[in-house]
Amino acid sequence: MALRFFNTYSRKIEEFEPRDPAARAISMYTCGPTVYSRAHIGNFRAYIFEDLLQRHLELRGYQVHRVMNITDVDDKTIRGAREAKVPLAKFTEQFKEAFVEDSEILRIKPADEFPAATDRRYIDRMIEMIGELIERGLAYQADDKSVYFRINKFPDYGRLAHFDLTQLQSTGRVKHDEYDKEHIGDFALWKAWDEEDGDVKWESPWGPGRPGWHIECSAMSMALLGDQIDIHCGGVDNIFPHHEAEIAQSEGVTGKKFVRYWLHCAHLLVDGQKMSKSLGNFYTVPDVLAKGYTGRELRYALLRVHYRVPLNFTWEGMKEARESLGRIDEWLARLDEVAKQENAQRPTPNAQRPTAAFEEALDDDLNISAALGFLFESIRQTNRAMDQNQMDAATAGAWLNWWGRVNTVLGFPHQFVLVGETGRFTVGGGNAHMIHVPAEVAEFAKERENARREKNWERSDELRDKISALGWEVRDTKNGQKLTPRDAS
Ligand SMILES: [Zn+2]
Repeated sequence: MALRFFNTYSRKIEEFEPRDPAARAISMYTCGPTVYSRAHIGNFRAYIFEDLLQRHLELRGYQVHRVMNITDVDDKTIRGAREAKVPLAKFTEQFKEAFVEDSEILRIKPADEFPAATDRRYIDRMIEMIGELIERGLAYQADDKSVYFRINKFPDYGRLAHFDLTQLQSTGRVKHDEYDKEHIGDFALWKAWDEEDGDVKWESPWGPGRPGWHIECSAMSMALLGDQIDIHCGGVDNIFPHHEAEIAQSEGVTGKKFVRYWLHCAHLLVDGQKMSKSLGNFYTVPDVLAKGYTGRELRYALLRVHYRVPLNFTWEGMKEARESLGRIDEWLARLDEVAKQENAQRPTPNAQRPTAAFEEALDDDLNISAALGFLFESIRQTNRAMDQNQMDAATAGAWLNWWGRVNTVLGFPHQFVLVGETGRFTVGGGNAHMIHVPAEVAEFAKERENARREKNWERSDELRDKISALGWEVRDTKNGQKLTPRDAS
């Protein structure tokens, strides 16, 4: 079966056909963080889904060109900077850094570009687009000096969200500052400067002000990916009005279909409730690490549920993530041992050889639950084969290679390094991800190996503590010591 995704635009599962199938090159736009505070784990659920999508497309031979914008000017960032009494750029910088840090901890592949909304290049592009929309009668400047998109002039407005505009009219409450708009649903393209904005402003043909959030994404995707893109992602929160507005703006300017596939990630709940600061169930990545969990474990917990199903985050779930990863690690270590023992076991029955089931599950709208189901069923079966001495070295090696392939999608870093009899290091798991062992840790491990050979158990324990103090755990196996970075993220 071919690769297929649920397209929010059509509300159907559609076979994936990129704009240029021969080139195997895909453009992907993913809405990024608004840097007014540290992103929470709900935000990262969406970023991990996008990471999984990119990695799977790459496994399937596509080259993905991905852009993620950084919203570093809006009401919240301006308010935050004012309250902190620092310039806007200085205020947002700390949260941009935190975002990069947390993404690295979670092993999210960085986008090819991270355009910032305040970058002069993109501000110019936004002003240019707004001018074109006004020329086409799709936008107007109101008495409050702001420029709005005229949704009544764009017949497709509401199609992505399957939203009826008359409903918007009948239920919409007119806020004080929205009297100037022609239609309650008209959204701001350019926000006229007011005192609250302080020194945050840019000159424009409509007077000083700043761009609206929606125009940012239209301008950046066009500047970096062209008029039409293959895939656009975000959280379900982004569908309306943000993505609806992006379509109206981009198609309003180009007259071409903006996006082929819209993919949206469902919410994250904590203990069955919406995450909120007032409920005390609001977590960032550092909050989870502070409870003793690793980035790798959090990645697992946020990845394991299908992206269109709400994910309920619980501490019990984090424990399960740890156990699941532990099972994978143990399995890899066992396979590694068998793979090194030439023909020590009987030939493996066909039923226990790797198949394409994992990848095929992901082809089906990224069905990660089914893919992981296959992984754990395989672990169960192959462990039983190894228990019964029915796993030959070649098959064990084939499973390790298989893991190397599927782990390019899962993105779990390798957990252990074996220090062999001569102090030589081999990377466990039998594939390409090298783990860097700090020289100090390596020295202690070699010394410990000598101590153990001399049966100096006291010294051996001392050295274990020293290694532990450096953040590594050591376990003894028949092939040597197994070193594991405590935070394997
Ligand atoms: Zn966006």
